[in-house]
Amino acid sequence: MKLTAEEKRLYKTFVHACGAKCWRCGRTPNNKPAWWNSPFLCERSHLVNSPRVESRKCCVLLCSLCHRIQHGDRFTYDLTGGGRFPLCTQTPLTLEELLTMKRDRDPDFFDPEVLASCSVKRELVLNICREIQNASVRRLPDLETLK
Ligand SMILES: [Zn+2]
Repeated sequence: MKLTAEEKRLYKTFVHACGAKCWRCGRTPNNKPAWWNSPFLCERSHLVNSPRVESRKCCVLLCSLCHRIQHGDRFTYDLTGGGRFPLCTQTPLTLEELLTMKRDRDPDFFDPEVLASCSVKRELVLNICREIQNASVRRLPDLETLK
């Protein structure tokens, strides 16, 4: 996929443009868990990556913790399922949840065709996108209610 200069700019500015607040748990870079021993940021997390394209249309916004969980890391001390960030569990989000997150949090950049073109699961991505566009799917909590 050939990206335009504008698409490259939108990718680079994505985190700042979206307020640097995790779309899953609501953490900002200022909400670093006390036990976290590395830089704590809000990051671009790729929904699809075959091929990996540096486009805002392919990413959701996650804090370092949620991003690591999405990549399969597990954290045993902070994630009690309750407390200040009850949504930050140890379970990675499913593809359907990620696509719903993209649709709800960044609707102007929700593009099923682009997502499908960057996934080996092209038909699955398209089917899920059709389902979440047409059906009443559980909606994410309002970002303002997180934190
Ligand atoms: Zn998070």
